[in-house]
Amino acid sequence: MASVYDRHVDLNQFMEGVKKRNPGQTEFIQAVQEVAQDIFDFIEDKEEYHHAQILRRIVEPDRVVSFRVCWEDDNHNIRVQRGWRVQCNNAIGPYKGGIRFHPSVTESVLKFLAFEQTFKNSLTGLPMGGGKGGANFNPKGKSDAEVMRFCQSFMTELYRHIGPDTDVPAGDIGVGGREIGYMFGQYKRIVNRWEGVLTGKGLEYGGSAMRPEATGYGAVYFLRNMLQHRGMDIEGHTAVVSGSGNVATHAAEKITQLGGKVLTLSDSGGFIHDPDGLDQEKIDWVKHLKNVKRGRISEYCDHFTNASYHGDGARPWKVSADLALPCATQNELDEEDAKALVENGVKAVSEGANMPTTLEGVHVFQDANVMYAPGKAANAGGVAVSGLEMSQNSERISWNHGRLGDMLTELMEGIHGKCVEFGDQGNGHVDYVKGANIAGFKKVADAMLAFGVV
Ligand code: GLU
Repeated sequence: MASVYDRHVDLNQFMEGVKKRNPGQTEFIQAVQEVAQDIFDFIEDKEEYHHAQILRRIVEPDRVVSFRVCWEDDNHNIRVQRGWRVQCNNAIGPYKGGIRFHPSVTESVLKFLAFEQTFKNSLTGLPMGGGKGGANFNPKGKSDAEVMRFCQSFMTELYRHIGPDTDVPAGDIGVGGREIGYMFGQYKRIVNRWEGVLTGKGLEYGGSAMRPEATGYGAVYFLRNMLQHRGMDIEGHTAVVSGSGNVATHAAEKITQLGGKVLTLSDSGGFIHDPDGLDQEKIDWVKHLKNVKRGRISEYCDHFTNASYHGDGARPWKVSADLALPCATQNELDEEDAKALVENGVKAVSEGANMPTTLEGVHVFQDANVMYAPGKAANAGGVAVSGLEMSQNSERISWNHGRLGDMLTELMEGIHGKCVEFGDQGNGHVDYVKGANIAGFKKVADAMLAFGVV
């Protein structure tokens, strides 16, 4: 009997279904929209993917775990937060992806991040699936003891969902070395095993050299690969960088080392513009400000008086520069910002953050033929070195900084090569969005095909 089920829906019908099944989840829908068009084009004549409903399956996370996290603040108030782990896809390896602590965290945000992570991790070439977790906890202004109690409470639930061969979380916004330490300590205490269940650990207890630098350095290596593909380089070029955390400061450091001039950094309060450029001393000062003093970027101008501060949440995109590296958070660069960058002659954009450019902003860059690297390709260096941390933990060894630096450079070259392979437009122009989406998708989809209907 002929089937009445039509598996050949068009893009609009497909997106309508995604919207209906995920009401109000705007970030997740945006992330799916960004890949769906490219995947539709790619699978158009490939019946096996249609038959197996791969696209329909890949936008449905394997599972979303949501849980209550109770903790006591320093004034003995009982506080209640919501925690999540989104396990999106483990076709090619254990779920892998960071944990975010920020008041803006919702299920939609974590589903978008886990979805992006699935493609990103595939692009690295390492055996890692995609996941993401977090809580709507705001670490800003909290004491170390409060952060410790929160992390311990969070892990007391999370531990049953993760494991070195199941799901390996790491850091993200609001989760750095301090938080990973507290969470690893609690996991180890509960299961009574030392195992590589988290990455981004301290060097004393199984962390990998190069992991703190990897995301920011990787985004600059990807930028350099794009420029070199068109016969250019970083040296002598100016750059606007947003953010002032781990990704932004290491991106700024590598740009500076390669002879570029970084003009800006930011946080949620506003941005600083330093027309002299940031040298290593200034970058180290910002690292100390953010990691140790946990201060605000506005304080930069009290110390380096040639710089100006632009408050009220202002973003740096109207400062004229050759290169742009959004390294803060999702949707921090919109259509108007993209137009301002293009008008000021930006040559290339490399995303250190996840989905920092809105869909409309991406179209502005693409229409202007600006070299544009989406986060899933450009910032994959972080999770790639996390993958290497997992390998070192399994082998019970640790590799040195130099070796890991070489591996990171090679991994980023490999990702760039895959984007060129699937995104070359044949006119010297590479569509890095298309290249990353298709290359990332293909490996996961082919693994899913091999498993049958599961
Ligand atoms: N949170 C980072 C990312 O967005 C790193 C994830 C990891 O190392 O697992 O890729």
